[in-house]
Amino acid sequence: MSILAVRQRFAFILLLCSLAAAGLASTHLAAQSSPSKTAAAAAQKIDAEYTAKITAATPDARILTELVDHMPASDKVPSPLKFFGYIPGEPGHMTYHKDIVRYYEALEQASPRVKLFKIGVTDEGRDMVALAVADEATIKQLDKYKQITARLTDPRKIADAEAKQLIAAGKPIYYASGSIHSPETGSPEMLTELAFRLAVEETPFIQTIRNNAIVVITPASEVDGREKAVDNFNYQQKNPGKPAPGMVYWGKYVQHDNNRDGIGVGLKLTQHMLKSFLDWHPTVFHDLHESVTLLHVSTGTGPYNTIVDPIQVDEWWILAQTEMMEMTKRDVPGVWTYNYYDGWVPNYMFWIGVTHNSIGRFYETQSFRGANYPVNGNQSREWYRPNPTPNDIMWGPRANVNMQQSAILIAMNHVAKNKDTFLENYYLKNKHTVERGKTKAPFAYVIPAAQRRRVEAADLMNLIRREGAEVHTANAAFSVGSVQVAPGDYIVRMDQPYAAVCETLLGVQFYAPENPRPYDDTGWSIPLLRNLKAYRIEDKSILTQPMTLASADLKIAGAIAGTGRVLIVDHTTDNTLVTFRFQHANVRMSAAEKEFDAAGHRFAPGAFVIADANRAALEPSIKELGLSAWAVDAAPNVPMHDLDVPRIGYVHTWQSTQDEGWVRMAFDHFKVPYTYFASPKLKEGNLRGKYDVIVFPHAGSGTGLITNGVQGAAPIPYKQSADTPNLGIEDSTDDMRGNIGIEGLMELYKFVQQGGVLITEGGTSTIFPEYNLTPGVNLEQPEGLYARGSVLKTILNDKTSPVLYGFDQNALAVYFNQAPVMRVGAGGGGFGGGRGGPNIPGIPNMQPNAVTPRLTTLEGPAAAGGTQPASGGQVGGGRGGRGGRGAAPAAAGEAAPPEGGGRGAAFASGDQFASAGQGRGGRGGFGGVDPATAPRVLLQFPNDPNDLLLSGVLVGGESLAGRAVAIDAPIGKGHVIMFANRPYWRWQTQGNFFLGFNAILNWNDLDAGRTPARPAPTSQER
Ligand SMILES: [Zn+2]
Repeated sequence: MSILAVRQRFAFILLLCSLAAAGLASTHLAAQSSPSKTAAAAAQKIDAEYTAKITAATPDARILTELVDHMPASDKVPSPLKFFGYIPGEPGHMTYHKDIVRYYEALEQASPRVKLFKIGVTDEGRDMVALAVADEATIKQLDKYKQITARLTDPRKIADAEAKQLIAAGKPIYYASGSIHSPETGSPEMLTELAFRLAVEETPFIQTIRNNAIVVITPASEVDGREKAVDNFNYQQKNPGKPAPGMVYWGKYVQHDNNRDGIGVGLKLTQHMLKSFLDWHPTVFHDLHESVTLLHVSTGTGPYNTIVDPIQVDEWWILAQTEMMEMTKRDVPGVWTYNYYDGWVPNYMFWIGVTHNSIGRFYETQSFRGANYPVNGNQSREWYRPNPTPNDIMWGPRANVNMQQSAILIAMNHVAKNKDTFLENYYLKNKHTVERGKTKAPFAYVIPAAQRRRVEAADLMNLIRREGAEVHTANAAFSVGSVQVAPGDYIVRMDQPYAAVCETLLGVQFYAPENPRPYDDTGWSIPLLRNLKAYRIEDKSILTQPMTLASADLKIAGAIAGTGRVLIVDHTTDNTLVTFRFQHANVRMSAAEKEFDAAGHRFAPGAFVIADANRAALEPSIKELGLSAWAVDAAPNVPMHDLDVPRIGYVHTWQSTQDEGWVRMAFDHFKVPYTYFASPKLKEGNLRGKYDVIVFPHAGSGTGLITNGVQGAAPIPYKQSADTPNLGIEDSTDDMRGNIGIEGLMELYKFVQQGGVLITEGGTSTIFPEYNLTPGVNLEQPEGLYARGSVLKTILNDKTSPVLYGFDQNALAVYFNQAPVMRVGAGGGGFGGGRGGPNIPGIPNMQPNAVTPRLTTLEGPAAAGGTQPASGGQVGGGRGGRGGRGAAPAAAGEAAPPEGGGRGAAFASGDQFASAGQGRGGRGGFGGVDPATAPRVLLQFPNDPNDLLLSGVLVGGESLAGRAVAIDAPIGKGHVIMFANRPYWRWQTQGNFFLGFNAILNWNDLDAGRTPARPAPTSQER
């Protein structure tokens, strides 16, 4: 109580201070706000009931500021208390998004300072919204203000003098978005109250925000997951002590990774947030998260991705330091920055802001949870945490609301107060980006339009257009450097405001291992992952070549050339080919097992041959899907097999859908049909009777996947009910408990033995080898390996395999993250050693970006003296990350790695700390496997460890050299197709999708091309 009294007095003093500060700003404000508004400020009544509820709900007086410790009364505008019957952050309450939208509609009805927009529909069909709050005159002219920020975005079209006028007339737009991570539940509550406060409060502090800036709020960007989180909360409220169904699904596809979609932009939520961003051109794009103690304000440890404009780097720090300082002045502990994430990978949603010259940023606030709880912070005082969290904080939902709201109001007020500076910075970031594109290589990227995968090439260009960036097409042929440009080829110029996002999507990354440990992926080079040719142009003359700006999405029109009763469809690995097969499931189609010439065209192995084709029925699909087909009189004289349409089973676990969601998204997008079921159902058996192919995407690994699972004494349902109306959409059950079990594993084995095809990736590829069910396939755990989310090179080892049909190349880029490391054949023991060693603290390398990149290319390693690492390298002393035994990420832990790969300790730098290897050797091999039934290595890493890294980070490459990446392991009459890579990673690896699609389409003939041939199954087996 006494503490509270002191706090209130302190708040009063602060109020005086802010009034004095507002005096400074008032001359600035005079032009925009009428005196009557200022007069109203003094007279504004306080809502005593609401204010008392704030006090009562605040569990610790230290987590309260004068900005949020009260609520003004309003006769006209309904408060959250009036509307919901409780205040945001009141323990025991959580609000559905649909009800927040209803409240926002009521706000819009009642207040001329508010306008609500629908910004799109989610993957599960719910509305996403954005609410604008500003003064009445501004809300009336939102289009005018949007136009100003739009014009400041493109300095090619305005002179500096005009920009100056626009800056003076314009208003910064502060866009705040909540709860992309559904178990992080506080931000939608906070944003509900914030909207009301901004609309009605008349303190000079709030007036500054409302009159000088425009606030845009998306209360939850993961709407589908929000409703499920509230379902779970309600279930817990009504069933205390019973285990809740949990958050096995958030949105339709992925859980925590919904915030790793900023590069692929595959989820509807990312697409709509991007569109909304491009509609507003916000000055700040602020994403609200929850995890750590008590409030982390983003800046990052570095390395900062070099696409970040230098001004934005400073803005990150200025805003973070402002929030820290102002919260510290108000005696609120535990606000800190720096030591959380790095600033490297541009896949987070807030990077929509970063890559578009806005200020992209985020908070991590101590969890909301819905009930009060103690926080034993006991943090040390560090330079990035000058006012650490003491060990006796009582926390709770209202503390979460107080903390987030106070801090974001401070940031909003700072941006509003300095509106000209931030608008000028925004203009300058755009201007500098354009100038850099004119003066510094790369000047452009050229993507050949007529390349083999031309549908994919057009799709990538459409992604760039979706990002608001420009794509041109060449008007005529020309050459630039060593690159021959053909008419129609795509040109992405770098002298455009959104060049940073173009570099993100088209460039190659090198993450020096001398840097601190990365937070997520280190490499993502999209042309490599999409298996596309793209050329970085270092010759400035390209900017003066005649070219035409694409004004609509690029669309490849497919065609059938010639006439004849046989149709041959080229297999280019463009993913629409799989759509074509399933669209015409009743049409008999064959695959050519060898390359051949017909109609003057060379076809790669895998071309679809359709005898007696009904051209009228097929031609519309061919055209729509962008496929190339030839009509000829006779089928080619090559061995062929039927493309039998399989019945596909698709397995998920009840523990995590995080990783399988990306695979499912790819299947849905390309219309591959499947039966979706949970892993415990494998035990029911008769799998071969139901399915021809079973796809089991990454979901943890090894023995844990077999034995673990949802635990509990009583059944735990996951289904729709009165209390949980939003659950059970993708799949449902009366009991989530259990996992595959040994019985399920044996059923899977039986399924394969009886002629089924099991397709696994990442962790699920370890199950069979772990139980010695695929003789000759060995798992290794090299301790010195450090490959954190990198793009690595693989060699097409056996091009006769149907799994590699259509891949007309010798090397293929794949996404790989630490594990599994697989070796085929005898031996292997003792490999993977070296590179380890004790973690000796070293001298931090303060200029890791000065390290020369050590990358290779698909064509081969660079010339001698080039960019290869010296053997025994510049990196030593650190321990590599250990192989991926890790489970899928916990829903809660923000800091959990996104994937099962182990997290190595940070690397110390400097040769002097290199130490003897202590790596554990791999397991011994499986000798004596009959070559006729031995596993077939389809893709493998190159033998030269210096020829592995295409993009990202790699240390200890020798433990990957020569290892298998894709394996076809025959068992009985069937096959296990195992991928160590992740062919369907985060909507980025479209160039690998067909590895899986080929295995599906050719499921019944995977032995094609095999030498020596596999003996035919005995009649008994048939
Ligand atoms: Zn989060």
